[in-house]
Amino acid sequence: MIGFLKYFPADQRDPRKRESRTCIHRGTNLPFESAGNDEHLDSSEKHNKIFTRRMAAVNLKSLSDEKIYEFLNSFDTVLTDCDGVLWMEMTPIKNSAEVMNKFHDLGRQTFYVTNNSTKTREECLAKCIELNFHATKNNILCTSYLAACYLQDLGFKKKAYVIGSEGISKELEQVGIGHCGVGPDTIEPGVPYKTFQKDPDVGAVIVGFDQHFSYPKLLKAACYLNDKNVHFVGTNTDERFPMDGDIIVPGTGSLVKCVETCAERKAVIVGKPETYIAEAIIKRFNINPKRTLMIGDRCNTDILLGTRCGFKTLLVLSGVTSLADVNTWKQSNSQDKLDLLPHYYVDKLGDLLPYLEKLKPSNESA
Ligand SMILES: [Mg+2]
Repeated sequence: MIGFLKYFPADQRDPRKRESRTCIHRGTNLPFESAGNDEHLDSSEKHNKIFTRRMAAVNLKSLSDEKIYEFLNSFDTVLTDCDGVLWMEMTPIKNSAEVMNKFHDLGRQTFYVTNNSTKTREECLAKCIELNFHATKNNILCTSYLAACYLQDLGFKKKAYVIGSEGISKELEQVGIGHCGVGPDTIEPGVPYKTFQKDPDVGAVIVGFDQHFSYPKLLKAACYLNDKNVHFVGTNTDERFPMDGDIIVPGTGSLVKCVETCAERKAVIVGKPETYIAEAIIKRFNINPKRTLMIGDRCNTDILLGTRCGFKTLLVLSGVTSLADVNTWKQSNSQDKLDLLPHYYVDKLGDLLPYLEKLKPSNESA
């Protein structure tokens, strides 16, 4: 019986995990396993790691049913990217809602993780509900919320200057942090830039997606950031929005880079693939990285986050990253490319549904 399958610890099953070791990743205090930084490895260990990475990116459906059920029993927490995995803009991808709802019914903690900073958790939730995902506000991790969490975690008591939208300002308000800067700020003819007076209460600059990004906003952000005590937070580094055709739509990463260049400082990024997300959910929801699955359609954000945090990773081919990309990276000697490889891939998330329908809830005894 499928629901009676024995659970085998991930460390005994996954060659990447067998090789992994605890290390502190990129300035966080989290003991992530198998993070991307290999400075501690000698040359033969690096060779072995590269070899085992090339064994990754397995077509999940090529495995025996028993192995697929082992995989599905190997995590208690599911993090999923949204666009390209669950839906394309407002069009749901077939059976994605059924799979996420099934994970929930089976007792898995589920989180919807998006680099979108323009919406609050409530607004993201409204979309989930409209498209039939059984989520709650606590299941939503958007970068507007994560930026507010980051400052809250620092015990921040001052005001934030925001290059971004109301998604960020509303999330800041929910944690009692004042803000300024959201909305149009255009050049006033005849008014010299040097007349700008800094608000002495501003102690942080947040940069998210801002359709009103302007020269005056850049100037103000850089002036605030000239004080090294002012925190600098970027929501994400996605350079462009995925679009067909010849139109290039700048993403938040382009704005963050612009401010970084002028300020001559680097922002702390709270979105994928940086690991603050994992830090935030571990702190708030007590998840176990070894028993966490990250699902995504984009390897340089979703899957890289999973690799850095020691999560299991599942790529769906319904979005940005193609199988041709994956196969190219498999041939690479570059650790940066190998870190983009998922453990498994499927054509689309809905392909898991027939298997999940035969599983029993994790709180049912076998
Ligand atoms: Mg995506």
